Amino acid sequence: MKSQSRVSTHKRHDVIVIGGGSAGYAAVRTARDAGADVAIVDQGPLGGLCILRGCMPTKAILRSAEVAALLRRAKEFGLSSVSSSADLSAIVDRKDRLIREFADYRIQQLRDPAFALYESRGRFCSPHEIDIGGTRLSARTFIIATGSSPSDVVIPGLSDLDFFTSDTILDLRTQPASLLVLGAGPVALELGQFFARLGTKVTILQRGRTVLSQMDEDVGLALEAALKEDGIEVVTEAQVLRGDCQEGRKSVWVQHRGQERVFAAEAILQALGRRPNISGLQLDAAGVAVTEGRIIVDAAMRTSQPHIFAVGDVNDLNPIVHLAIQQGEIAGYNATHAGKPSRNIDHRLDA
Ligand SMILES: Cc1cc2nc3c(=O)[nH]c(=O)nc-3n(C[C@H](O)[C@H](O)[C@H](O)COP(=O)(O)OP(=O)(O)OC[C@H]3O[C@@H](n4cnc5c(N)ncnc54)[C@H](O)[C@@H]3O)c2cc1C
Repeated sequence: MKSQSRVSTHKRHDVIVIGGGSAGYAAVRTARDAGADVAIVDQGPLGGLCILRGCMPTKAILRSAEVAALLRRAKEFGLSSVSSSADLSAIVDRKDRLIREFADYRIQQLRDPAFALYESRGRFCSPHEIDIGGTRLSARTFIIATGSSPSDVVIPGLSDLDFFTSDTILDLRTQPASLLVLGAGPVALELGQFFARLGTKVTILQRGRTVLSQMDEDVGLALEAALKEDGIEVVTEAQVLRGDCQEGRKSVWVQHRGQERVFAAEAILQALGRRPNISGLQLDAAGVAVTEGRIIVDAAMRTSQPHIFAVGDVNDLNPIVHLAIQQGEIAGYNATHAGKPSRNIDHRLDA
């Protein structure tokens, strides 16, 4: 029995997946295809990060910025020049329409009667049991796929400045005249470039020597040059010290090459990374080991408890949707093929 209405009488499954984003859905689909009785637990909103606040909305708005940048180069393509101005609210409306379609499709997939869907928050009570708002579910294997959230880096004074994260800036409908971007990872650069191409004065403050500091320096340097062509000020080797408000403008103080400098803008985007969603899961009750805020997994996506797997952003291995899906499929297979050789992630495929 799989339907929501009969949940209260069926509380045992072969596999329970906690989190129905890209990784969790891939896991549940794979386990179902292997013939297992599978349940998925998601606290909502249903759809997952990639569709609701990640890949898809950012790519939707970036397309508008790309068209704006191309229009500015009309003459170069033999076209008479066109003047255009950005309407952020209309761009957000278009993005919302597009992601609604994707989200509705994903919700339809999650409501497939082939699995039980519990729309609730899950937390472990023991290695084989979870609690979902007062009801207990048990399973032979669990797959944790609870994703990540914007990291809450503590910077004195910053929380008083009402800053944006990638979660909140996607709903901004009034274009700021100026924007300070803290961080220079992929999310920071995409959103910084988006606003710059619409005409906002963007400054990126980055602690490392180059943008995308986890990649080869050559990549960072080439990207930095491209961002500067878009009119973005890129300040590297800038360690953020504190934030405050000066004459109505939001200010960020940095230590930059031995000097204290201050940068001010109408808005701030804090894009200093993400942290795995593990608080509240009661992983200690499950006996799942956590090191420095991360669930440690092996190549088969197993945690320190062999019957519990962790996939996608929650294991913090590589927060990219394609890998989240691949990890979900691997865990979905391994969770349903006990006694058979495990399938393992092959990071040579990351390149
Ligand atoms: C701005 C931005 C842009 C991005 N762009 C790209 C891109 O272009 N390309 C790319 O490859 N990747 C991109 N990513 C990364 C990509 O979005 C993520 O790697 C991917 O979506 C992670 O999927 P997931 O299934 O691990 O987590 P999620 O999709 O976040 O799913 C987690 C699910 O768990 C549920 N949940 C959480 N806690 C509980 C609980 N206790 N009980 C029950 N349910 C719970 C949540 O409701 C959620 O549905 C981007 C990320 C961001 C932030």
